[in-house]
Amino acid sequence: MVIAKAWALKKHFDGFPKTSDFDLKKIELPNIKDGGEQKLLLESVFLSVDPYMRPYSRRDMKEGDIMIGTQVARVVESKNPAFTVGAFVVAGRGWRTHFISDGKDLQLLPSNWPESLPKSLALGTVGMPGLTAYFGLLEVCKMKPGETVLVNAAAGAVGSVVGQLAKIGGCKVVGCAGSDDKVAYLKKIGFDEAFNYKTVKSLDEALHKASPDGYDCFFDNVGGEFASVAINQMKKYGRIAVCGAISQYNDSVPQKGPYVQLPMIFKELQMEGFLVTRWNNRREEGLQALLKWVVEGKVKCHEQVTEGFENMPMAFIGMLKGENLGKAVVKV
Ligand code: NDP
Repeated sequence: MVIAKAWALKKHFDGFPKTSDFDLKKIELPNIKDGGEQKLLLESVFLSVDPYMRPYSRRDMKEGDIMIGTQVARVVESKNPAFTVGAFVVAGRGWRTHFISDGKDLQLLPSNWPESLPKSLALGTVGMPGLTAYFGLLEVCKMKPGETVLVNAAAGAVGSVVGQLAKIGGCKVVGCAGSDDKVAYLKKIGFDEAFNYKTVKSLDEALHKASPDGYDCFFDNVGGEFASVAINQMKKYGRIAVCGAISQYNDSVPQKGPYVQLPMIFKELQMEGFLVTRWNNRREEGLQALLKWVVEGKVKCHEQVTEGFENMPMAFIGMLKGENLGKAVVKV
């Protein structure tokens, strides 16, 4: 018999999440040998902490529920011929150390995953955040060679891939992030221009200096004030992919901002919100493209690894505060 540890949402977040909003529980799992065709026992090896958990917890969860989320897990026992013991899968089973599955909700890592490549990347560059960058740039921004792409939260899981894919696509890339170390990292991985949005005197001036002609594509991970300023620097017929609004997720009172209509009209912009799940039917295509670029060294990956399942709330809160460079993951 296995006792799983799991983190529950003790209290709905009010403003910025606190460690006291979480509760560590122990859950006794039934023995899979006692019935249940096709059953598997899995142990989480890496767990993801993502910004979406903040707004989705309010929308989809009630107090006491196990926190939502995705993990890379290893098959420990199997009565399901499709999954051998020792195989690694991506599962969306929340913040748990162990769980039982019938296999229907599991995705095996691509069969050509190189042994030398960390499996945690299946939660980042070669996983959901990488796919978000891939489909957001190709299908929503519809970037073309020679264009200028702006991305914010650029040193994070999605943003760092956006910038590198835009470079592969022949674009000029401008990124911004919240520390000088992150800015140095962006330059190291090939961004043409990068700046620290927290220390520039004027965001408007910094955006103008980085691309005096303006921006064709804006991949917006942040929303709020940043987006309100950036929209005025779009070129005519520019495209804005509204991917995330992390600057607003912790607000107790909704922000009021300048409104988008005038620049939208006069510059004839397109602005489209999207969820990466729209392209679930093309997941394999996206993962194979990302895996190839990573293996070839054309896309670099950085991970912020927090050790220890007991530190999940801290890793989540740290990511929301911007402590992560690249993808924030927890190693059990
Ligand atoms: P990141 O790895 O980028 O981590 C979050 C980062 O956001 C932090 O490191 C911090 O970096 C930045 N940040 C936090 N607060 C603020 C703020 N007030 N203003 C500006 N930046 C802030 O996370 P992801 O790459 O996983 O996600 C990025 C965005 O993409 C999120 O908004 C997320 O919700 C969205 N997303 C959307 C998906 C979709 O399907 N539409 C799928 C996946 C993600 P810094 O130090 O630079 O401030």
